[in-house]
Amino acid sequence: DDARLAEELRRMDGSSYGRYKSLTGDWSFPDFTLTVDRVQSDPFAPPSRVSVRIPADVAELPDSAWHSPVRRRATADYLVRRAYRELKGARLRIDAGGQEVLDRAACQIRDGEVLLRLGIEMPGHGRRIDGRTAERELCERLPDMVDALRWPALDAAEAAAFADTVEDTCALRDRLPDLGLVAFVADGSVLPRRSGVSDLPMQGSAVPFRSPESMRVSVSLPHAGEVSGLGIAEGITLIVGGGFHGKSTLLHALERGVYDHVPGDGRELVVSRADAVKIRAEEGRQVERTDIGAFVRNLPTGADTSDFSTENASGSTSQAANIAEALEAGSTALLIDEDTTATNLMIRDARMQRLVHGDREPLTPFVDLVRPLRRDHGVSTVLVMGGSGDYFDVADQVVMLDGYRPYDVTDRARELAAERTDADFAAPAARVIDPRSVDATARGRSRIKRRDMDVLTFGENEIDVRNLAQLVDSGQIIGVGLAMRLLAEGGLLGDDRTLAEALDALEERLEGDGVTALGRGYAGDYVLPRRYEIAAALNRLRSLRVLR
Ligand code: ADP
Ligand code: MG
Repeated sequence: DDARLAEELRRMDGSSYGRYKSLTGDWSFPDFTLTVDRVQSDPFAPPSRVSVRIPADVAELPDSAWHSPVRRRATADYLVRRAYRELKGARLRIDAGGQEVLDRAACQIRDGEVLLRLGIEMPGHGRRIDGRTAERELCERLPDMVDALRWPALDAAEAAAFADTVEDTCALRDRLPDLGLVAFVADGSVLPRRSGVSDLPMQGSAVPFRSPESMRVSVSLPHAGEVSGLGIAEGITLIVGGGFHGKSTLLHALERGVYDHVPGDGRELVVSRADAVKIRAEEGRQVERTDIGAFVRNLPTGADTSDFSTENASGSTSQAANIAEALEAGSTALLIDEDTTATNLMIRDARMQRLVHGDREPLTPFVDLVRPLRRDHGVSTVLVMGGSGDYFDVADQVVMLDGYRPYDVTDRARELAAERTDADFAAPAARVIDPRSVDATARGRSRIKRRDMDVLTFGENEIDVRNLAQLVDSGQIIGVGLAMRLLAEGGLLGDDRTLAEALDALEERLEGDGVTALGRGYAGDYVLPRRYEIAAALNRLRSLRVLR
């Protein structure tokens, strides 16, 4: 059959580009099956899509490489990176991702069988088929790539170490609740990145992380053995320090700590609770019937803030909505950096309180809510705040960064703390979403696309996702769109299900097949997103309607 494909491509050489469509379907090679899933209609359209199935007896993956879901994901990720390297300079493309190890459609392992999804720009001379080049790609480069992915051809020690690293990261994250921690940063970790546009570790001048003794926690991991590091306890953690001393860098690492990182990244053993959500102000976002009553009351406009909608939120109301929505989706750990907050939602100092009395100020600052949030709802907060000491009053622990080095200054901060009366924090109301308002179709077809890391096109809507700090992979943006479609079309929304219940049901659907359960009929790359980013995108969908 592979000879038949080669012959077919040679025969097509020079004929009109549209003839490529006739390739659609299965082609069996000695070692694998190639499926041509979708062919582009002209050379300038998005790449064609093909998939490759390598049977278990050819792949020869040892059981240990895929017997658990974690090792299966890690090995798949290792293979996709290996394939990416093998395809350098080819027209075939595989979605290999960045520093995070994620569940991606580009490579899946099922019972030892390896499934790859690739793109290819079918070659042409103008609008004529370039059959020779196509033959080289599909009948030479592709089988070469498959050869390179067989276990005997791989560096088995490196592949196993890759999966061990990911398994350690997951084991560490799983231990956090038992240890009473929301996050852990291993000694020796490298947190800073090479630049604002490169997620690779900083080289040379990076100061490796070293925990203060009083906050040092030791954990035993399946492969790395005993590791020590900073244990960030549940409750309210304040990160202070002068400008440029590394506060935001630490918080960024915690944001990413919900994901696993590749060996050599420097953040392999920097982990946060899987449900940790970065919170920021986001002036201009729309809000649809979100309960921000805990933060905002008695607006001069008379609006009901427990059922609050706006086309264009202010800094403070947008941040309040972001918190309420993260809690609604189930987060129990909030990550906040003063650099991206609305100051008037965070603090109100004593002098301002004397000038502007309580009943004239609609905002309850977060500093009065953070303790009840913890006490009554079990939600922890990690907060970077270098500009105000108000949070000394409520912090359970205070870490000071000095020259990128953390120190425990809890006792000194406590000496400077004042009495503070907490406000009440009533859990935000749970909403039921109208599934008809979540429509992926445009002109009769499903339309889910993205523009860079900025915009998710969902049906007729464009969703601004720039401010979702924990969307880290372009494929996750498509994954979010596919998840929204499944929520709506799969009957998960509505039916009196709250949004949180719908997200639970979605996660249940994904349990067996993982990310590929999202992709029905979708020809392209996508990656598994978290429920918090799915909820966040839904909340930014202009057509969204809330039933109650
Ligand atoms: P802050 O938020 O305290 O003002 P940042 O986290 O933005 O500080 O860090 C300031 C600069 O220091 C950044 O350019 C960052 O890359 C660098 N940096 C942070 N941590 C380290 C480290 N451990 N070693 C070397 N450079 C670092
Ligand atoms: Mg900063």
